[in-house]
Amino acid sequence: MQAIKVVIVGGGFAAVQFAKTLRNKLSTSECEILLFNRENHMVFHPLLADVAGASINLDAAVAPLRQMLPAVECRTERVVRVDVAAAEIVFEGENGALTHLRYDHVVIACGAESNLGIIPGMTEHAFAFKVMRDAIELRQHIVGQMEQAEAAIDPERRRWHLSFIVVGAGFSGVEAAGEINELVRSSTRFYRNFRKEDVMVTMVHSQDQILPEVAPPLREFARKKMEKAGVTILLSSRAVAATQEGVELKDGRTLRGGTIVCTIGTTISPLIHTLNVPKEKGRIRTTPEMRIEGQANAWALGDCALITNAFDNKPSPTTAQFAQRQGRQAALNLVRILRGQPTQPFRFKALGQLCSIGGYSAVAEVFGLHVSGFLAWFLWRSVYLFKLPTLSRKIKVALDWGWDVLFPRDLSFLNTDTARQITHAYYRPGDFIHRQGELARVFSVIEEGEVELLQATEQNSEPKIVTVLAKGDFFGASALLGNRPYETTIRARTLVRLAQVGSDLFSEITGSFAAIRDLLTKAVVDQAGDLWRRLPLAKTILEDVPLASILEPLPPQLLHKENTLGEAIKAMNEGPTSDLIIADENQLLWGTLDRDDLYRIIARIAVTSTAKSGLPIQHKLVEFLSMSRLSVTLDDSTLVATATLMDHGVSWLPVVRSKEDLRPVGSIRGDKITYRIIQKIAQTEVKHAQAAN
Ligand SMILES: Cc1cc2nc3c(=O)[nH]c(=O)nc-3n(C[C@H](O)[C@H](O)[C@H](O)COP(=O)(O)OP(=O)(O)OC[C@H]3O[C@@H](n4cnc5c(N)ncnc54)[C@H](O)[C@@H]3O)c2cc1C
Repeated sequence: MQAIKVVIVGGGFAAVQFAKTLRNKLSTSECEILLFNRENHMVFHPLLADVAGASINLDAAVAPLRQMLPAVECRTERVVRVDVAAAEIVFEGENGALTHLRYDHVVIACGAESNLGIIPGMTEHAFAFKVMRDAIELRQHIVGQMEQAEAAIDPERRRWHLSFIVVGAGFSGVEAAGEINELVRSSTRFYRNFRKEDVMVTMVHSQDQILPEVAPPLREFARKKMEKAGVTILLSSRAVAATQEGVELKDGRTLRGGTIVCTIGTTISPLIHTLNVPKEKGRIRTTPEMRIEGQANAWALGDCALITNAFDNKPSPTTAQFAQRQGRQAALNLVRILRGQPTQPFRFKALGQLCSIGGYSAVAEVFGLHVSGFLAWFLWRSVYLFKLPTLSRKIKVALDWGWDVLFPRDLSFLNTDTARQITHAYYRPGDFIHRQGELARVFSVIEEGEVELLQATEQNSEPKIVTVLAKGDFFGASALLGNRPYETTIRARTLVRLAQVGSDLFSEITGSFAAIRDLLTKAVVDQAGDLWRRLPLAKTILEDVPLASILEPLPPQLLHKENTLGEAIKAMNEGPTSDLIIADENQLLWGTLDRDDLYRIIARIAVTSTAKSGLPIQHKLVEFLSMSRLSVTLDDSTLVATATLMDHGVSWLPVVRSKEDLRPVGSIRGDKITYRIIQKIAQTEVKHAQAAN
């Protein structure tokens, strides 16, 4: 008899248990098992907090799959599609080539993914807490923050480095906050410039209690114990944004801190999207025996599956306990099917809950018993030690834990040097991106939004806005090229997303590629070519001219982004001006269009279009233009407006009511401003001449 081919997608709790059970039941001549996982190891998630808190070594929370499953063919390759109709998977083979593989049975156990996108700015500024890399990077970052706090001269900055914010107070949030608190506070004795009192660990939770899954007395114990250990717990508080500075709460408060850990938000794996099978809330619906609904030879297990537990007729929770039991039972069901026996529905009574809260303390609900404190912590560690795969892991982790109780945690800092990276940053309106006089560390390109450049002309004078930069503009190059501190303060004017290049990588690029350096230098010179440096009197004049006095009125009707190209050309030809302002569905500024833009659109159509019918005038403007909202506000001075015009090399700009209210009120034109300056200079000259006579 030919061996059947079983393909498993995933290498977590469910997949590993399935593979182990099936291998125990069927010989290699009966069944070929192939397990595809993105990594070559299984991650033991309950230990991620210990990794982040430096109480175990980095590799103790992972186990190599091929050593755990010697009689299974383990492939470290990503599956990109499962075609249940054709009974084949498609995976990324060598050099990314897509390879097809047919199966007799497929098991989908690809878990869930973290989703920082649920809160603006988290992707750019927060650590996720799902895979091994998250825990390792977090640990490096925490130790790095302590080193920076030690070096900080400004006490405010030192406190920022020592402030840690954990979003979410479920199991992983509580474990992460407990471990970070323990690591940082127990390490302060090795630093000279800060003490335990300078450390701030805050846990933010949208509900009115932490650990909603455990019994109320244990929850209360955990809250009190953590607060006593120094963790600030903010209940009924919702995080609405993360920035470079910290976390914004729904009630308007800002929590400042250099470290944000986001333990909330999961999303389904991209692979599940490709599957044409019944789903509910993104999870694959299965029969009680765990086959995918409507499929005879496809199974779904673990966090990615919606499996009803016959014990209580409720959907199984997404926990390792359940994933493991499902893996075992599904393998037994497959064996029963092959042997022509009836299958059994998934049935499991949860054994209990265990959660470590830091400081050698935990809460545990085991077989209906409630245990808390050191005893629960000891139980927690013993249970996980017992559950760990492979004997060598068990010994390794046991030694680590013993070491942790007897000796201080390891504070070695393996520098993941941000100066050599390209990163992304997110800022809210009003946030300072960097300040005049600070040492230049990054080169930034605006991916979205607008920033304003502020400059203080004399020491201790109030900085004034000198210009506005928008999408596609950059800053920081001048200071980095000249090895100088930043010459201006940069503040976000709207929500801003930046792509940033660290100083070392910037030097490497501009040092090695002369052409890039020359282009940047030219662009910096162009940017700095402002009017008043060449003509100081102009600056004084512009400061006195109210922006409203040079405002061009709005045309009778605004153009809309859904208008067609033909309608725009008509408005240009028939209206009072060819400079058009485009609004969105809320009548807020969306973009602009003038003759230069029109020329560019026509040139692009000529180059790219194969149609012979001429201009596609019936097409909508959104198809040719992308949103560009560079504008000045009525509150800006004429000086700022002029600098913004010049920095962008444009001849006109729309004016909106304010930074908050983007309704257009008119426009300003460079030629009109120039005329006003010339007029004023001429008047001044006449006055001087008369005085001299
Ligand atoms: C920080 C944290 C702490 C936790 N603590 C506990 C706890 O104390 N107790 C508890 O019971 N549960 C806990 N959980 C939940 C538990 O870890 C999950 O429920 C469990 O891991 C689910 O197992 P799984 O096999 O479905 O998926 P996972 O264990 O997530 O494994 C899925 C695997 O599939 C792989 N994969 C995904 N897509 C593909 C693809 N396209 N191709 C190839 N491979 C792919 C992934 O790389 C991963 O290795 C915790 C989770 C986290 C994040």
